[in-house]
Amino acid sequence: MHEADLVANTVKAWLGNPISRSLLRWVSKRTDKGSKLESALKKYIGEQEKLSFQEKLAYAIVKLALNKGSESFGVSKEQLVESLRNPMVRRGITNVLEGIGHYGVQRPQTTAAPFLIVWNFTKQCNLKCKHCYENAGPKPAPDELTTEEAKKAIDDFKSAGVVALSFSGGEPLARKDFLEVTKYAADKEFYVSVASNGTLITKTAAQKMREAGVQYVEISLDGFEETHDKFRGIPGAWKRAVEGIKNCVEAGLDTGVATTATHYNLKEIPKLVEFIENDLHAKRFIVFNFIPVNRGKEIADQDLTPKEREELLDFLYSKLIDNNRKLDAFSTAPQYAVTSYKFALGPVVATHFTNRAASEMLKGRTKSLTEFIGGCGAGRLYCGMEPNGDIVPCVFIPIKVGNIREQSLVKIWRESTVLKQIRNRDAFKGCGECEYKYICGGCRARAYAYFNDLQGPDPGCSINQKYWEKIAKSNEHSKFKIASSESIPRGIKCPLFLRQPINFQNFLNMASSAVLKLEIE
Ligand code: SF4
Ligand code: SF4
Repeated sequence: MHEADLVANTVKAWLGNPISRSLLRWVSKRTDKGSKLESALKKYIGEQEKLSFQEKLAYAIVKLALNKGSESFGVSKEQLVESLRNPMVRRGITNVLEGIGHYGVQRPQTTAAPFLIVWNFTKQCNLKCKHCYENAGPKPAPDELTTEEAKKAIDDFKSAGVVALSFSGGEPLARKDFLEVTKYAADKEFYVSVASNGTLITKTAAQKMREAGVQYVEISLDGFEETHDKFRGIPGAWKRAVEGIKNCVEAGLDTGVATTATHYNLKEIPKLVEFIENDLHAKRFIVFNFIPVNRGKEIADQDLTPKEREELLDFLYSKLIDNNRKLDAFSTAPQYAVTSYKFALGPVVATHFTNRAASEMLKGRTKSLTEFIGGCGAGRLYCGMEPNGDIVPCVFIPIKVGNIREQSLVKIWRESTVLKQIRNRDAFKGCGECEYKYICGGCRARAYAYFNDLQGPDPGCSINQKYWEKIAKSNEHSKFKIASSESIPRGIKCPLFLRQPINFQNFLNMASSAVLKLEIE
């Protein structure tokens, strides 16, 4: 067994051991006053002075585990203390450990509460995009959460242990209380990001977002001007989105550009990458997987074939590992985790939840690590919330599993049978038989959209080619009209030299710290 895998598996064995797991479960169990684990972590960095008897006991256990962990994996105590000073890191660690305490060590792991919630803040939008998964329109929905309810939801998310909130829509800036609510979330120490069409982000708006505590803004560009405006349904949308991106960069916000890849824009993507990096100076380019839900159903024939998706992911990864580039290229397609796993060089990609620092941390990947993160995070590390407080496994899966007005997030997260179904990868059709099922798992939203089955195959992957062909063959009877693999000219090719056999030997040293971060923290 490779040394890095040995380290990961030893930690797993430790956490999987019934005695240490019971200890962990006890330490991570919340009391009326909050989390003992969080108090212990605060004490460890010298921030919490007075501890109750139970908290003292928890602190002794946590101290032992952290000291042992840092010793074994070559991370100094100072380094550990430094990263623990960040409240988001502490909340994240507590969430993961509490998840291990509650669910045991899993492949892939489920956290105690979603790490990330994507909040469709409103149904209101000033554009008319062809692929809109929210069926957004000019007016908000009549039952959207009020400002007070929104703040109450944030309080509930905090006590559950959620780390990051992403405000999406519709167009989140269309709501008048957008800045008030994002500021409230940032003040509660959430990592706050915003997904926007960019058209309302003036210089002043960008500055105000920064002041409110927004840390990351992601603006959609679906190609160059003609393609984008056609896709978004409003002339001038491209120019305003580009202005919005520039305004965010100028205001010092961490800025990314998102593109939903379809046949409309596939061939523009290489040039778009250059434009985003050199002209817009955004830090991140993320390709969204197209999912035929709501208005997107009408353009299912524009979905990429499995082969095209694979080539696109190879292309993106070749950009990501190119050290001469300032731009990081990612994709929400869970198969991107497999792409990164197959390459000899470079970092592992955790699809939706990643950034450059996280990927670098995961350099020197091992199967255990990639299986811990596990590609699609729906219902496991992440969930969505609709404008009216409905909780959904993913914003692209229109199945209500609860409502935040009626139940706590933790109750929904722990008890929903739909979420339990999504977490059980062994029961998946197609993907369940794949060697990458714990690394990727396939997009559950695509399985549901195409087969009406959350445990169905993701037909967007070349390993599931037969399912893609099945849909293509039944085109005349199906609500979906997709392209067969043969009928579409190839889009993007990845340089052949990048396709090398896996070689973990180069990454031994990096792996040990990554194991510590993921498995202990
Ligand atoms: S078959 Fe499913 S799990 Fe395997 S790589 Fe393809 S999409 Fe992922
Ligand atoms: S179902 Fe999973 S892979 Fe698909 S969009 Fe949602 S989180 Fe991403």
